[in-house]
Amino acid sequence: MTIRTRIAPSPTGDPHVGTAYIALFNLCFARSQGGKFILRIEDTDQQRSTEHSEKAILQALSWLGLQWDEGPDVGGPFAPYRQSERKAVYQEHVQTLIEKGHAFHCFCSQERLDQLRKQQMENKEKPGYDGHCLNLSKQEVESKLANNESHVVRMKVPSEGVCEFDDMLRGTISIEWSQVDMQVLMKADGMPTYHLANVVDDHLMQITHVIRGEEWISSAPKHQLLYQYFGWQMPVLCHMPLLRNPDKSKLSKRKNPTGINYYRRAGYLPEALTNYLGRMGWSMPDESEKFSLQSMIDNFDIKRVTLGGPTFDLEKLSWLNGTWIREELNDEEFLNRYTSWLRDSVDFLKLSPLVKERADIFGDIAELGAYFIKDRLTLRQQDFEANKLSIEDQMKVLQFVLWRVEEIQSWTRGEIEKQVFDLSEKLEIKIRDFVAPIFVALSGKTSAISVIDSMEVLGLDMTRIRLRDAIDAMGGVSKKSAKKLEKEYAAIPRLS
Ligand code: GLU
Repeated sequence: MTIRTRIAPSPTGDPHVGTAYIALFNLCFARSQGGKFILRIEDTDQQRSTEHSEKAILQALSWLGLQWDEGPDVGGPFAPYRQSERKAVYQEHVQTLIEKGHAFHCFCSQERLDQLRKQQMENKEKPGYDGHCLNLSKQEVESKLANNESHVVRMKVPSEGVCEFDDMLRGTISIEWSQVDMQVLMKADGMPTYHLANVVDDHLMQITHVIRGEEWISSAPKHQLLYQYFGWQMPVLCHMPLLRNPDKSKLSKRKNPTGINYYRRAGYLPEALTNYLGRMGWSMPDESEKFSLQSMIDNFDIKRVTLGGPTFDLEKLSWLNGTWIREELNDEEFLNRYTSWLRDSVDFLKLSPLVKERADIFGDIAELGAYFIKDRLTLRQQDFEANKLSIEDQMKVLQFVLWRVEEIQSWTRGEIEKQVFDLSEKLEIKIRDFVAPIFVALSGKTSAISVIDSMEVLGLDMTRIRLRDAIDAMGGVSKKSAKKLEKEYAAIPRLS
């Protein structure tokens, strides 16, 4: 049997280090046994999936050296590898489940479901579907379908007993069926949900081992049941421990940069980041800290994964990166890698007109442009004190700008300007005072290239990190005020 593993990202945001971590273990597991590693795009959430995100994920994983054998870009024997192109496959399979009596049409309105949920919450019951539409007669269902009534398809789930399944790292896991909802398999728009598409594709793509994050453990009973309903053999499951911040909370962008592109932009070596991800819960037989992807593959044994939440610690990563730079790159390689990083990271064509305007000699450029090349800045509250707005208001401005820029789809000067100006108008703060804290946050200086130009050249990832760091430098937003700010922000109308 050929071992086949896969990474199945949903293209709904920036490439995340968690995706790279899971991809790495799937790749090592497959390659160490002469198997294949597949990349499948799970874009069934049409609202949130974007082409831009898909492209960025593919690029980021390739940058890390995590190359797949089959996927939407390289093709393969089980193409297409993008779920939005496989709709007919899911339709056919859901039909089979309905015919076999394992799934049913559900016509319940959103209002009814909301009401049900509210009642269950009030009664302190676990929210879930109550089986209302299971009672419909065949004729009733047929006439509703003939009338084109909006509906979903749900899977039947046993109401009692315990579901047991095996996990490579955790042994047998038991979950009571009463904890498992009658999952929607097909949405009203005719798109499958994750659960249906994932199971159907894993089977059709002959995936033998599913290695994924532990947040999916609770989905395993539904998947196991679907395999049974279809009469298929379930792949072997392996749920990896989640990455954690140094304070042991789940890795989140509030505490750590989580976007792979941030690390690329900041000047980490892909080899070092991949190496570091390999240290997350796993170790080499000789416990060495520094190893290449190839030697991880050569020494790979999934049993060496330990379950205590691995800590993603920037300081350790930077140390490891420094070791890679010093021990693995000779002077010439160092120069080559450094200059190509510089060219990749900073859009010098965009930066040139901005520094040209302000430089008399080339020697001026280093000072003017340094903040575009640097990683994060070290700021203190004092750096913001000369600004007109109170520290609290400056934090609010930065937080709101942060949220607004995260919504920007295409990172262009025009779009950034529109959003920043709109926000300053809506908050009724003079643009001059509004941009002052952004200025300091991005450049660490009080006079620099315009905020909008700076943002454009810095790019979204670095802009985001600098805004967030500046908020922290001013003392940070407490949980309580974050809630208040979120409310206030949500009430501000967006630009259409
Ligand atoms: N699309 C899921 C995700 O975004 C895949 C989960 C799985 O590996 O089953 O992580």
